[in-house]
Amino acid sequence: SENILEVNNLKKYFQLAAGFFGKFSILKAVDDISFSIKRGETLGLVGESGCGKTTVGRTLLRLYEPTAGEILFDNEDIVTASASKMRQIRRKMQMIFQDPYASLNPRMTVSDIIGEPLDIHGLAKGKARKDRVHELLHLVGLNAEHATRYPHEFSGGQRQRIGVARALAVEPEFIICDEPISALDVSIQAQVINLLDELQETLGLTYLFIAHDLAMVKHISDRIAVMYLGKIVEIADSDELFANPLHPYTKALLSAIPVPDPEIAMKRKRIILEGDVPSPINPPTGCRFRTRCGEAKEICAEQEPVFKGNSRHKVACHL
Ligand code: SF4
Repeated sequence: SENILEVNNLKKYFQLAAGFFGKFSILKAVDDISFSIKRGETLGLVGESGCGKTTVGRTLLRLYEPTAGEILFDNEDIVTASASKMRQIRRKMQMIFQDPYASLNPRMTVSDIIGEPLDIHGLAKGKARKDRVHELLHLVGLNAEHATRYPHEFSGGQRQRIGVARALAVEPEFIICDEPISALDVSIQAQVINLLDELQETLGLTYLFIAHDLAMVKHISDRIAVMYLGKIVEIADSDELFANPLHPYTKALLSAIPVPDPEIAMKRKRIILEGDVPSPINPPTGCRFRTRCGEAKEICAEQEPVFKGNSRHKVACHL
């Protein structure tokens, strides 16, 4: 199939420790979401912190065991895959983390950081390993001299390049980029995006690009999914989502992005979201966005909106 990844009715619940009344609470971090990613494309996954987007990324790699649902990678269900099968699949799926400071071991040289996955998967030793590390450094815009240095000797942007090189070491097909630019200076963000873009072209990679705002994913994403409180509320081709947002939450997120053109700015009035995101332990009945939605009707409290539409654009809203 042309889809490298297909996710059907995925749920990830966490059981929280017993509280005051001795009852367990269930945190529904990801609550019944479905989406697919075509080979070679980038799907942006956007939402406020706590919406479940990072949990989605981790569950796809089975760093968290899914509570329910199906994750098909290359048509194989990885939820039921054996440990040895999962090891093979893991090679094809890698992750780039948000914090290039915390995710690199400060006591390891760059060569060992990038070479570690080669050791784990038994891919290269001795000279071949060294050559491969140098090749990976070049691929991300660093050079061989960097191999013997330690992470603290690099800037934030360079560290993220090292993280990218490590993810590429095992020749993955699919990379989950978990807020890879959020911790970087604005001036560096575009460089990392450009690097990821170039690598996608040359290596034919597929990305899931997780971010907390739409502006960050706009340029790199072919399609964008918007999450709110454990649900995908809207998914569409990027251009379509920006030109014709349907969900009130997406509209609010979009209205927060400054636009240079005053004429467009006039038409697009700023929608301020009132209140905080409700707790995913006790989400609102019906539509989960209703407590903050300016367009909520009676039905919104009674019935959960169905996620529907066509292959270019789907939305979950009663309007
Ligand atoms: Fe707002 Fe109702 Fe649509 Fe939910 S279903 S986003 S509350 S209008």
